[in-house]
Amino acid sequence: MKLVKHSYEKELNYLLKHYLEPSEEEKKVLKKIVNEFKKKLEELLEEEVFIGGSYAKNTYLKGKNDVDVFIRFKEEKRMRVLEEKLSVFKNLQVVRGSRTYYRINFKKILFEVVPILKIKSANDFKNITDVSPFHVDFVNKHLTRKQKNEVRLLKAFCKANNLYGAETSVHGFSGYVLELLIAYYGSFLNVLKAISEAKPPLIISFNKSKPINVSVITLIDPVQSKRNASKSVSGEKFSKLQFLAKKFLLDLKYNKSIMKYFKPKKMTIKKLQSLSNKRGTKLFVKKIRIEGDSEKFLSKLNKKLKNIKSRIEAEGYSVYDYAYFLNKNEVIIYFEIETLKLSRMKKHYGPPVSVDLKHFEEFIKKWGENKVYVSENHLCVDVRREELDVLINSLFKNYLT
Ligand code: ATP
Ligand code: MG
Repeated sequence: MKLVKHSYEKELNYLLKHYLEPSEEEKKVLKKIVNEFKKKLEELLEEEVFIGGSYAKNTYLKGKNDVDVFIRFKEEKRMRVLEEKLSVFKNLQVVRGSRTYYRINFKKILFEVVPILKIKSANDFKNITDVSPFHVDFVNKHLTRKQKNEVRLLKAFCKANNLYGAETSVHGFSGYVLELLIAYYGSFLNVLKAISEAKPPLIISFNKSKPINVSVITLIDPVQSKRNASKSVSGEKFSKLQFLAKKFLLDLKYNKSIMKYFKPKKMTIKKLQSLSNKRGTKLFVKKIRIEGDSEKFLSKLNKKLKNIKSRIEAEGYSVYDYAYFLNKNEVIIYFEIETLKLSRMKKHYGPPVSVDLKHFEEFIKKWGENKVYVSENHLCVDVRREELDVLINSLFKNYLT
């Protein structure tokens, strides 16, 4: 057998050229639409229109179809006028939150229009979005054109492995955090090396500022030294990145192809079922539609799933794995259970035997004189355990419909 030697540099360049870096033609088309939209806004509004986000930083991936636009207000209270003025766009969508913003589809591009406060120093912000132009500035000053492609590699790597996004539903790495990592370590490969060697908490500071809010990866924001830009990264997502970084470096060592790290990993019910069959667990799946704002919906869902998990465990069954994944505007939720058979009855504990006579009597009366016994040093009765199927179906019904 002939051994194929993979050159990772060649592979990364191939990925960039064919999948990640927008072509000159694509850039030109997008630029035209953005400028047209910007002009429309400028005719409509008195305030400065600032095109921001990864479009302005030139760190966006091929096929980009959303652009961040910031309207810079001198006073917060004037921001209210925006909704009425933008209503000339027939497909205007209003997203209410700590700072209400707007979504407008224009020539197949989704523009997210965010009112922000025009501030002199990043520390004067009222809402974190006010700082966004400072991020753009920093990235454009500190990253070379080549390094912006390194950002694209890192973004694609994180995206493919479900590590991209600071939203509460992901708890991963934001675009800005990845840009800062490239600015700090210089290149995609250096970031993976540093992550692979890290002993968390990994603390990164551009200017020797001391961290104030330490998390598994603490990235002191160079434009706001009091902020940990990577606070949203969960321990689990950091470990997943570290795991992949180590595997990636091993593949480099043995000249193996690294293309697989950039292929989006898609979960399906079929894959789950086959894994569950191999493990000998029992799989429960429920599909639900996302209603309203998906961020809020998913963050509520996270809490509900935690509750379901503890209810299952309270009944004596153990959960092997549980999670959800997205499929268009549906969420597919699953619980994999490792305990398949348990006794018909389970113990239900009452107060300690030493409890006062009044409460002792109440417990005896409630459960029946002949049924109560002592277990450890508590009153105890046997009660029927919910069967697994019945339990999970009723929990799904109560929490998820
Ligand atoms: P992408 O290519 O994914 O669109 P992006 O850099 O444009 O990358 P967005 O999530 O679209 O990232 O956010 C746009 C801008 O808003 C960012 O560049 C950043 O300045 C600001 N921003 C977004 N989320 C946060 C956050 N959690 N904290 C601080 N700033 C944020
Ligand atoms: Mg963006």
